[in-house]
Amino acid sequence: MEKNDVKKLQKKLLSQKGSSISVGRSLDDNAISSFSHDYIEFLNNSKTEREAVASSVEFLKERGFVPFDPDKKYRPGDKAYWVNHQKSLIAFIVGSESLEKGTLITAAHIDSPRLDLKPRPLYEEASLAYFRTHYYGGIKKYQWTAIPLSIHGVVVLSDGREISVFIGEDDLDPVFYISDLLPHLSRKSQAGKTMGEIIVGEQLNVILGSKPIEYNEEIKDPVKLNVLHILNEKYDIVEDDLISAELEIVPAMTARYVGFDKSMIASYGQDDRVCAYTGLRALAELNAPKKTCILVLADKEEIGSVGNTGMNSDMLRNFITLLSHSLDVIPEKVFINSKCLSADVNVAYDPNFAEVYERQNTAYLNCGPTLSKYTGSGGKGGSNDASAEFLGEVRNAFDSEDVPWQIGELGKVDEGGGGTVAQFVSRLGIDTIDIGVGLLSMHSPYELSSCFDVYALFKAVNCFFRLM
Ligand code: MN
Ligand code: MN
Repeated sequence: MEKNDVKKLQKKLLSQKGSSISVGRSLDDNAISSFSHDYIEFLNNSKTEREAVASSVEFLKERGFVPFDPDKKYRPGDKAYWVNHQKSLIAFIVGSESLEKGTLITAAHIDSPRLDLKPRPLYEEASLAYFRTHYYGGIKKYQWTAIPLSIHGVVVLSDGREISVFIGEDDLDPVFYISDLLPHLSRKSQAGKTMGEIIVGEQLNVILGSKPIEYNEEIKDPVKLNVLHILNEKYDIVEDDLISAELEIVPAMTARYVGFDKSMIASYGQDDRVCAYTGLRALAELNAPKKTCILVLADKEEIGSVGNTGMNSDMLRNFITLLSHSLDVIPEKVFINSKCLSADVNVAYDPNFAEVYERQNTAYLNCGPTLSKYTGSGGKGGSNDASAEFLGEVRNAFDSEDVPWQIGELGKVDEGGGGTVAQFVSRLGIDTIDIGVGLLSMHSPYELSSCFDVYALFKAVNCFFRLM
């Protein structure tokens, strides 16, 4: 073989995409900056699943989406959204083709790891008032100490009123705090322990106040009483009302650019609001799609997609069934012909922890969103495992528009693993594949993404909605 022929053969046979760290940057820098700016605003307004639903509804309304009415006869181009119990949401645009030909779905989740209050949370000890918490999702507990925390959520009072609580985000607000042990005294009680033992669940107690209602030795728990007094004045709450509450403790930090070049974003809750926001933008910017395009923003993914707002409920099935009836088609035909991007964050290679990655099959920051054929752990357990045919179709669509993407797995084979909502979508007969941006410090109070990847994910989802 001639030298030139070998070079040609090399070009043809060796992969240029997917496993390479040098994926070409083909996206407009101004577009990336403006998208990142809007994404940061979304993150700051959407720290809980309820807030993410509220800001998504606001976003959709501004772009002509109206509440879903199952009794309405829908026509091509109609845009609507359906809110499921305040904590999950489905938005859609009706396509020009019959619904029977299938829908195109993007499914992300809007809950993030956090600390929830226990039903009887309030107590006083050593002249400090505290909330007891029960953590939600997979966290490294020690990361939640010694950082500013805020409280978000609702309390339902004995008279049925629902009160919103939102404190710790405004610069003038106080924040809340979980203490850690000083290094000087950690030698025995922390230094020799494993990560999971350094701080345990029952130590995640949030400091609320230190001032007694009155300096009077006859009053029991005067600091707790003072906190209750403040809660009562501000929100009309008495102690028993905290039983019927959903108050979530989240980091009080706001989303910020990272690096001299401002090429990255650090924020709480990018898993998986990055996919929620890119999905919203990708849907809203469609113009008369052929297929009916659906965005699902689900709750409860971090604890197994449970409950009536999680993806393991019948929310998507019910929605597609209702829409099918309104368009006079058979829902089962719609499921079998539908396709879905299960949009959730992935891991990005971190040189600080090189030992957990298999470098040929991991994603890198700044190289576009990551497609994963499968997720899961212990031999793909709990994964969806997309078909070769569907993966082929998706990668060809992306390549046809020069959308940057890469292929990746979540770390080394036996290192751990994780799942997504993909399995709960594909159960309906829907071809499903995982996609998402790679993060550093996933599930920490302050996760890191790349602006390039976030914008590229938007391009990818938009491309999927138009071309598949
Ligand atoms: Mn996730
Ligand atoms: Mn997660």
